[in-house]
This record gives sequence, C-alpha cells and structure tokens, in this order.
Amino acid sequence: MTDFDAAGMRLAIYARVSTDEQREGQTIDSQVSELERFAREKAWIVAGVYKDDGWSGAVMARPELDHMRDDARKGLFQAVLINDVDRLARDVAHLGVIKRDLEKSGMRVIFRKLPSETSPTYNLMVNILGSFAEFEREMISDRTRRGRRHKIEVRKQYLGSLSSYGYRYVTIDRASGKEGYLVMEPAEAQVVRQVFEWVDREGLSARRVLNRLNQRGIPAQKGAHWAKSSVLRVLHNEMYAGTWHYNKSRGCEPEHPNAGRPYRRHTNSSRRQCPRKDWLPLELPESLRIVARDQWERVQDRLLRNIAFSPRNEKHFYLLKGLLWCGACGSRYVGEPCKGKFYYRCMARCKRLRTIRDETLNQTVFETVENILDNPALVLEQAEKQSLRVANRVERRQTESANVEAELKQIQTEENRLLAAYRTGILSPAQLGTELETLKARRNSAETRRVQIATVEPLIAPQAARRSVEEYCGEVRRAFRSFKPDQLREFLRTIIHRIDFAGASVRIQGHLPARPPQEVGCVGLAPTDSHGGIATTTIDTHGRNPGGETEEVNFDLTEIIPNAPPRTMSRDARGRFYSPIAVHDSIPSD
Ligand SMILES: [Zn+2]
Repeated sequence: MTDFDAAGMRLAIYARVSTDEQREGQTIDSQVSELERFAREKAWIVAGVYKDDGWSGAVMARPELDHMRDDARKGLFQAVLINDVDRLARDVAHLGVIKRDLEKSGMRVIFRKLPSETSPTYNLMVNILGSFAEFEREMISDRTRRGRRHKIEVRKQYLGSLSSYGYRYVTIDRASGKEGYLVMEPAEAQVVRQVFEWVDREGLSARRVLNRLNQRGIPAQKGAHWAKSSVLRVLHNEMYAGTWHYNKSRGCEPEHPNAGRPYRRHTNSSRRQCPRKDWLPLELPESLRIVARDQWERVQDRLLRNIAFSPRNEKHFYLLKGLLWCGACGSRYVGEPCKGKFYYRCMARCKRLRTIRDETLNQTVFETVENILDNPALVLEQAEKQSLRVANRVERRQTESANVEAELKQIQTEENRLLAAYRTGILSPAQLGTELETLKARRNSAETRRVQIATVEPLIAPQAARRSVEEYCGEVRRAFRSFKPDQLREFLRTIIHRIDFAGASVRIQGHLPARPPQEVGCVGLAPTDSHGGIATTTIDTHGRNPGGETEEVNFDLTEIIPNAPPRTMSRDARGRFYSPIAVHDSIPSD
C-alpha cells in the first residue's frame, strides 16, 4: 500500500447530514470544506463531491451515495474520502456491504477520523465504530423516549407536535424557555363539530362526509383535498373528546418500501398502531375539547355499523343488513340465498334459531315501524321515564351554574382580601404575586366552565319532546310507503339501533329524534324533496353547541313474527315497497 498516500490521487468526497443534525446547526458544506482542506493537505485531487443533505444514516438507499457508488464502478476516481464511519452508514451490516462493494471496484475507503487504513486493527475499528454509532443512536432514542414518557406521566404535558386537524401546536420557544403547547384552531374545530354532527345525527358514512366536505369546498389540513383516510382520521381521533394517546403508533419501515418512490429520507416512513395496552392516555384541558364524549362514542359505534352496512359484494338486497343479530348467541344474522329464495341466518351458525325468510322478517319490522309512526304514543309511553332523566339533567345544570357564580364571587372576595393584606404590609410583593397567580388560574377555570354551561344547547321540555316526536312521525309517515328500497333501508338505519331475532319474536331497539319545536322542520328528513325520499338537511346551521346532548326518545319493542302463511312484502311497478294491507291508500293512482 505504498501508493496510498500518493500525491495526485483522485478521490471522491462523500458527505451526509441528517435532518436532526441540520437542526443542530451542522451543515453539509462545512463537512465538505473540511474534507477538501484535508485532501489539499495530502495533495490529493478531488474528482467529485457527493452530498446527501438531510438523509438518515440508517437508510442505505440514498441518492448521492448510489450515484457515488456507480461512479466508483466506472472508475472515475481511486478513493473515497469520508469524514467518519457514521457518515457512511449507521448500521454495521450496511457499512460492511457498502465498504466491500467499493473495495471490489478497487476503491480505497478513507475515513478522515481514523488513523490509517493500513493499520491491522482498521477493519476491527471500522466494525466497532459502526457498532458504536448504532449503540449511541439506540441510547439517544431510548433516552428521548423515556424523557417523553416522563413528561406525559408526571408533567401531564401534551407532546404531539404534529398537531391533528382542529388544533395548532405552538412550538417551544427556546429563547424564553417556554414549552410548546396546543391551541384550538377555531375554524377547523367548527368543521370537526360539523362532521361529527353529520355522522351522529344524519348517519352519514365516511364516504358521504368526504363528498360533502369536498362539495362545499371545505379544505383539509394545509389546504389539501379531503381523502377518505383523512376523514376517518378525524372521526376516530379521540383528542376531540378530550383524550390524547401517546405511543398510539410508532414509526416503522414501510411494508412496500419502494412503492412509487425509489428513495426515502428516513427508514421509518410508515406508521403502525401499537397495541392498546401500550397507549398512554393524557386528559386534555376542557378548553381543548371539540366534541362531547357521548357524541364521540356514538360516532364510533355508528362507524362500526357502517362497516356492516357496506354495500360491498351485495348480490341481493337485504333490507335489514347490518341491523340484525342472533338472539341466541349474539352473532350477526346475515343474508343467505338458498334455492332462489333469500334467508337470514346466524353468521356463527349456532343452529339454535331457525333461518328465516328475509321477506317474513322484513315485513315484521316494516309493520312495526309503520305502527310506531301511526301511534307515536306507543313509543312515548316508554319515553316518560326518559323525560324524568332529562328533567334531572336540567336541574343539575342549574345547580352547577349557581356553583360557578358562587366560586367567582368567592375569588373576588379573596382577591380583595389579598390586596388589603399587601397594603398593610402583611404580604410581600412576591407573596402577593404567587397568591394572585393561583387565583387567576382558578378564575380562568371557573370562567371557562361558565361559558360552557351557558352555551350548552337548551334542553327540550318533555312536553316539547312529545310534540316533536308526534310531528316527526306525521312527517315521515307521509313519505314512508313511497320510499324506494334503499331509501327505506337508510331510514330504518337512522331510527333502528339493532334488531335481535329470537325465533318466534323479534326485538327492535331504536330511537326517534326529539328537537326543540322551532327545529322540527329539519330533522334530517324532507318528505317533500324531489326524490320523494330522505334528504340530507343541514341541522347545525343554527350554530348549536356540540357540548349539548342529543335529545332522542328511545324505543324497545318486541314483536311476534307471524309464522304461516307469511305475508310477503311486495314491490310495486316502480320498485317501491308497500304493505299489501295498505295498498289502496298508499299507492298513487297515476
Ligand atoms: Zn347464533
């Protein structure tokens, strides 16, 4: 290796900085100029400079590294000069591969921070240094991870700097040492509320939410178009209900690493969800809540149901698809064709209950709902108990409001007392400052609470609820029999929560919406709409507060299924469902 130090040797410089190092102020150009100076001192000729700026050393596929290796194969230079082992690769295996590959092309690999390539311990050192680089990185990530855990568990501090839609993260201010914090983005928060209302009150699927958002030109994050994934991310995000989870997912290497893009700056460019037990929940302050907890839960439930309602692979139209459950084993009851006829059967095939002709069951459910619409009193009787609960809630809210007012008064009194104590010299300025700070925090929280109580949607009095349900039933009844099959199914899904099939009878649980009188006209159903069906109306143009509970009147009815002969549900010439007993008054004469 006598020519190793030969003057005039042509070499390539390879430099790399990661994004983290960039953040720490290291630049690729300072690295390059250092290497150039080193080469000049040795009287070597720099034949090429290859720079991977902002690339992790854990990634082997870096554009300039590949470029340099290609040029090495072409013999454009005799050696490669690199600052240290770490620049080339952080992984021993990668390091070995790259180094051996370069050497195969006759290259010498020179690390500026190593004594000599010819020293016998050189290879060992390369390996050890490579291992150290890896070890150090593991150490750093471990330290960081533990530091973050501490911040959440002990200091109850929010750490997700990549903020979700609806929030903005104000980053750490290094000058003043002020920690980063999360604020609500009012316009986006309004969209979040809207989206939850759509799903909760109108039963919209994620797909339809997506369409509505894009139709209305409401931009997603960073002005982008909404995609189904971003809509689902919003709908599943528990932050809006006040709980944020740390460690919910972690970075990992993508399953299809090279799909579409030949180069990636980081190895862990994909995210995978961690098991639920590893999540670390953090309760966010009340002021960051966007939707009420119970609404959030209802929406999760609804989304699960939507999966069951998905029209994928649907060959036959089953009216009760996704709503039906086995009363014996609790599995779903699903549609199944047999010899040209259609049945519902237990998905788990528990065989404890018979299969049932879809027409028979459809008919029973149809008639039950029809009966409810005809006689809302049937449901309202059940609602009496519920209205008691509503009354209790009103009372609770009044008590709460009184408490908040008392607290605010108390704070004012204490503040006056403190100032008096300060004037008479009992308190030092420092003590006064601390005390006032404490009071201020209490006042803030009391005032937030006051706003919340005041803006909560007014509750409906039982009387109004009764009227509302009656009106709703009247409105729907007029449209009910002229629904096309899919409209009927959609309607059943909005009012029925679940149907449990018990062989000889069927239990139907659901709810009818109850709203304050002035809003009865927009309950999500407009029988006069041109298609004669369910119209999607905007319920929340009234600027109602999402913190309010949805008022609804629940029903839970058990019906005997008539056995033989089953009256069949028929369709008229236009494909509408109708009940044979009501033919004369429900089918228009045209
Ligand atoms: Zn079963």
